[in-house]
Amino acid sequence: MAELTARAASANEQFGKGLTSDLGGLYQAPEPLISQVRDMIDRTESTERQLASALAQIQALRQEVEAERGNAGRDALTGLLNRRGIEAQLAAAEAGDTIVMIDLDHFKQLNDGHGHAVGDRILKVVASSLSDCLESHEIARWGGEEFLALLPETPLSAAAGTLERLVESVRNTPLEVAGEQIPLTISAGVTSTRGNESVEQVLKRADEALYRAKNDGRDRVH
Ligand code: GH3
Ligand code: MG
Ligand code: MG
Repeated sequence: MAELTARAASANEQFGKGLTSDLGGLYQAPEPLISQVRDMIDRTESTERQLASALAQIQALRQEVEAERGNAGRDALTGLLNRRGIEAQLAAAEAGDTIVMIDLDHFKQLNDGHGHAVGDRILKVVASSLSDCLESHEIARWGGEEFLALLPETPLSAAAGTLERLVESVRNTPLEVAGEQIPLTISAGVTSTRGNESVEQVLKRADEALYRAKNDGRDRVH
């Protein structure tokens, strides 16, 4: 579109220039013809302005599309990857990589008791603690109040140790809202990938570990 418009603009400009320069040679032509040529010159000038504006719009849209493409793999609230953004890395996970699934405890109660805006703030705080704790690892907001991290070449025990420290740190850092301290805890399921298994199988195992952490009383790693 941009190319077509630019070409049309250039052809139109040439045509306008041609008409303008030929107008002088038409002094003996009948008046209706001269007035028609003047009319065409006006119209080509107006078309020139319209094409220039269309071109500017096309360029602005192109920039917007490029920006959106970059954001498509990110979660708008937390700035972490979203499910789509971590898909490729998950698919490429190899035996010995560790996957962590994290879920906020009793988040519905927090949301209902303090409001959705406070809930959103809590999600951001947890996302930021996760990023600090897991540094360079791939972290995604997997769903509402659920996060997923991929730790390449990390033994299960090392990953579990890191997560234990995170769970403890979240427990010991209540969120302050309007002078009130809101206690917060998270649960995590950790599992290592094995050879010859699908992403779905690994995720299912991480989910089951998380479920057990919840069942055993939450605020813990399984
Ligand atoms: P559990 O300890 O078993 O995980 O209980 P829970 O209350 O955390 O889990 P449940 O699945 O019952 O509730 C999750 C809540 O998360 C419900 C929903 O309102 C809230 N939620 C999901 N996405 C968002 C969001 O983007 N912002 C906010 N503020 N709340 C969200
Ligand atoms: Mg929850
Ligand atoms: Mg959940």
